[in-house]
Amino acid sequence: MHKAMPEQGRDSEQILSDLDAFKDQDPHYKDGRVWSLVYYLDEDHSDFLKQSYHSYACENGLNPGAFKSLKKIETEVISATADILNGTEEVCGVVTSGGTESCLMAVKTYRDMARDQRGVKNPEMIMPTTAHVAWFKASEYFGVKIRLVPLTRDFTPDLKKLKRLINRNTVMILGSAPEYPHGTIDPIEAMGAIAQKKKIPLHVDACVGGFILPFMAMNGEQIPPWDYRVPGVTSISADIHKYGYAAKGASTITYRNLDYLRYQMFAYENWPGGVFASSALLGTRPGGAYAAAWGVIQYFGKTGYRKLAEDTLSAVNQLKAGIAAMPELEVMGNPQGPLFSYRSVDADVNIYAVGDQMDARGWQVNRNQQPAGLHAMVTAQHLRVVDEYLEDLRSAVAAVKADPSLAQQGGAATYGMMAHVPLRGMVKKKVLEMYSEQYRAGGGELDLAAGAGNDSSLVDRLVTRYVNYKSRKAGS
Ligand SMILES: *Cc1c(COP(=O)(O)O)cnc(C)c1O
Repeated sequence: MHKAMPEQGRDSEQILSDLDAFKDQDPHYKDGRVWSLVYYLDEDHSDFLKQSYHSYACENGLNPGAFKSLKKIETEVISATADILNGTEEVCGVVTSGGTESCLMAVKTYRDMARDQRGVKNPEMIMPTTAHVAWFKASEYFGVKIRLVPLTRDFTPDLKKLKRLINRNTVMILGSAPEYPHGTIDPIEAMGAIAQKKKIPLHVDACVGGFILPFMAMNGEQIPPWDYRVPGVTSISADIHKYGYAAKGASTITYRNLDYLRYQMFAYENWPGGVFASSALLGTRPGGAYAAAWGVIQYFGKTGYRKLAEDTLSAVNQLKAGIAAMPELEVMGNPQGPLFSYRSVDADVNIYAVGDQMDARGWQVNRNQQPAGLHAMVTAQHLRVVDEYLEDLRSAVAAVKADPSLAQQGGAATYGMMAHVPLRGMVKKKVLEMYSEQYRAGGGELDLAAGAGNDSSLVDRLVTRYVNYKSRKAGS
């Protein structure tokens, strides 16, 4: 049932206290127990974000000619981004609402560019299997066919296979710095050389790495070049609302020069509402998010971000060392950034059961699949909880070893079943159905018990569980 709009307006104090109370069931990220979704540091920083957001909460960046303040803010955010990405004076771009918008825009841009310059009618994009899911979304939205590059044993894309996938329909190649599932930085220099030789644009998805890898490098870490220093790289997406520690709703898409960016623009001259133009996906653009993004860049500066990168890397290294010391576990691939994932190398230790045990100990840990693993998106905040995490991880592994039946229960059982091929084909359809259900009028609930009654099949029940699970745990 719909909850009706209140007849009378309510007292603002009461409303604010309601809003606060709604948070009761949310993940408790302030104590460092959540390993994705939120990039929290402390109350001072958080208050500052809110204030800077607040100061532009009503302003609209839709028309860069109207609010000159927001255009100035956007220009300066893009300049600062180009600076840390080692761009030349020609690098230009747009502030977007998030990584997904940045990725979508790159696909639209290169599709339209290839159509205009080379008459490509059946566009294709080449990307490693580890590309963020936003690229799969872009493919569906914009009708650009994906050509997937498989990984080699070290979790990097197989470049020989990549080369063979290039054809006259290829509109772009994608690399990530780093990719989300395992934190591996794709071999951007080698990919850039291929792209340049074949005259195909190369986008680097640095949504997660863009505001931390540059500072790790400034701190002296050996990070292979992945930004505008690599000649073949034509564009980069970098989120400020991840390791830039901005308020939600701020990312950047930059291009090597305006010749690329102009294909991102949209204009319609015959609209009864007036001639309309826009630079990215949104119409109305939230001034608050842009102000907070500009604000946080000023707040930290390079020195502040270097310190955050140092603390983050220190946490990452301690965690990796702790995991390496557990004979049952292994870090996957060679992650160099702020995130990584790990798996079990012991047949008696089901990694998803370890995940369930970590959940039971109060952590929120994401799951990987193909191969199965657990994910850690590490922030500077986590430095404080490294020892506690490792201690709980050791005890989680011991618990699973002592009771192998844990692999047949809870999330572990669901994940295990979902991995089986006969069910796999039904997963997408079921997940879509159940996701829609959550948006039923009045706000449907994913209810395990509801699925268990009447005629629902095993698949239904499994997927319900799985979606329930993912909607609580899924990372951004
Ligand atoms: C987070 C992420 C995205 C998508 O960004 P959102 O801000 O969640 O929309 C894209 N690519 C990578 C590599 C990411 O980590």
